[in-house]
Formats: sequence, C-alpha cells, structure tokens
Amino acid sequence: MKNSMSLLLAGLLVWGTVSVAAAETNTANQYNVFQSGRYLKTITGYEQAYAYAKLWDHASIVRIAGNVWVWDNYPKYRVYQYDRMLREYETQQSAVEYAKLWDHSSVRSVANNSWVWDNYPKYRVYQYDKLLREFRTFQDALVYAKLWDHSSVRQIADNQWVWDNYRVKTLVLDPGHGGSDPGAIAADGTQEKVLTLAYGLKTRDELLKHGYNVVMVRETDVAVDPYATDTVKELQARVDFSKKSQAHLYVSLHANSFSNANTNGTESYYNSTNKYDGSVNPFPEQSKQLASVLHKHTLQAMSTADRGVKDSDFYVLRKNTVPAVLIEIGFLTNLTDLAKMKDETYQSKFAEELASGIDEYFAIVGR
Ligand SMILES: [Zn+2]
Repeated sequence: MKNSMSLLLAGLLVWGTVSVAAAETNTANQYNVFQSGRYLKTITGYEQAYAYAKLWDHASIVRIAGNVWVWDNYPKYRVYQYDRMLREYETQQSAVEYAKLWDHSSVRSVANNSWVWDNYPKYRVYQYDKLLREFRTFQDALVYAKLWDHSSVRQIADNQWVWDNYRVKTLVLDPGHGGSDPGAIAADGTQEKVLTLAYGLKTRDELLKHGYNVVMVRETDVAVDPYATDTVKELQARVDFSKKSQAHLYVSLHANSFSNANTNGTESYYNSTNKYDGSVNPFPEQSKQLASVLHKHTLQAMSTADRGVKDSDFYVLRKNTVPAVLIEIGFLTNLTDLAKMKDETYQSKFAEELASGIDEYFAIVGR
C-alpha cells in the first residue's frame, strides 16, 4: 500500500532538476492530503492537515519530505458478496472475519483490487439448464460436471460456457474468399472461392445429418462484410461468427496455390503462437487436436500428399474465440489435386470424412 502511494506521489511531485535538499527545505512542514488514492490538497502544518483530512472519509496524510504516510483513515480491504461491496476495513484480519459471515464473499485489497481471500465461486455447473453447484476453480467444477450427464460449466463473470457436454454443438464453417475476392485461380480458370463454397455446402449438409448446428459464414458467392474496406475487416467479419453464434469450433476451407505446378498435397493449420501482434487463439491445444483429426480425415477423403499439420498465425485462427482450424485441401496449381478438388465424388467424400472427424474430435475433448 505504501509503495503504491509512493508511486502515486512520484507522479504528482515532479521536482525536475531541483536538488533534493532544496526541495526538502521548501516542503519541511508540508503535507499532502488524499482521499483514497486521489490527491486533495497540500497543507502547511500537520495540525492543519489533520483538521482538513478529518473532514473526509478514506482520507490520509503524507508528509512531502521523505514521502511518508503519517496518518490515515483509509480502508485497505473491501468485503464483497459476489460483486457487491459490503464493507471496508483497515486490516485484512477484520475484513476476513466479517467476510466469513456471508456466503459467496471475498476480500479484496483496495490498493490493487486483487483478491486476498475468497469464498466466491467463479464457475457454475449445470445439468441441462438446471444449476447444480458453484465452484471457485475451473478444475473443481470440471471434476464435478463430469459426474453428470448433459452437464456444462459456465463462467459466472460473463456467463460463457467454458466446458459442455450437453448443448447441441454449433460449428462455424468458413468457405474461404468470396465476392470480389476469388482467392487463387487455376490455369483452367477455376476459382478458389467457388471450390471452397462447394466443399462448404456439402460439408454443412453432412454435419447437419450428424446432428450438429452449422453456421455458414457465407452460403453464396459474396463478401461476408460487403462494406469492408480492407482484408482485415473482411476477415474479422468471418471471425465474429464464432462469438455471435456461441460456436464450439470454427473450420475454414481453402485451396492452395504455388508457382511450381509439381507442388501438391493437403496442409492443415491451427494457431498457438504469434510473432506480430501477440494475439493468440485462446484454445491452442484444442485447435491443434482438431487440426490433426481433421487433417487425417481430409487425407483419407482426398488421397492427397500429406504436407502436415502446422502452427500458423493466420488472422482467422489467431483472432478466433473458439478452437479454430484452416484446411488447405489441395493445390489449384497442381493438375492432379485440381482434378480431385473439382470432382463431386471427392467433394462428397470430404464432407463425410470431415463430419466423422468432428465426431472424433468431440469424443476426444468432450466439449
Ligand atoms: Zn485461400
């Protein structure tokens, strides 16, 4: 507390090049009065400062010389029930004693608003929509939730699901590109946006048969955000579907291209690192798991060369709010890959395999 007050004072008292000795002479009998962390007034004479400070709640007096806290009436701890503040205390001990009289209470340090004691649940376990119990840690909530069928765990703070074994799973399918953006173009004129949409629609139909709720980022040849003035806005519009639809996961479909026509095969991507702006997908392990399962099934469907599962900081992966995967099904610039990708039999096989892959993923992670 004293340290944070010192920092605060350091910010207020800018002495510039004035020597410390001169400054102390000037301020030998001067005091700063604060309310909570807010500076009120500088007063000469301790008695005068004291008389002034007493007029305020949560007041304190700091002697400018040496920056010493000389008197205070400033509570250091607050007792809460859930997020409702109940009372303030000078000492942690008295705050905790009071907090123990209440359910769902906690004690927070005023200085940095951090919990110093806590009997405040952060997670709720549900069966269907019925609340079963509350827990302080995700780990405890998860252990309990797994004892029940159709259970889920929600974070109290934002009422978001953090684990669930009961809702119909919602998947976001993103057929890459669209509208004025054709993506890559093959030598025969085949556009990536046309192929990704064909794969997306067939995959959607198959996922519906498997009992999933499917949200398509686009179902026709359009840009997702028709007003987007740059690529980032268009990609963000795609990412926003995950959050809007409270999706469980996101799959983006693309086709690759390269200057060398011999280059071929399937690549799958997830995100767990970012060299640029630091934003990383919040579910790197699940994303990697999802990528490897879907990659395996894509290879089974397409009989393409295995170019591996890779960590990438693609925007739609790193900015996503759910486990996210991007599949480059094959190379438009390779004649063998292109022939397969255009073939409706391969498209249907891909859709079936992808749906089986999603089943497999949920069987592994259970959410
Ligand atoms: Zn693409």
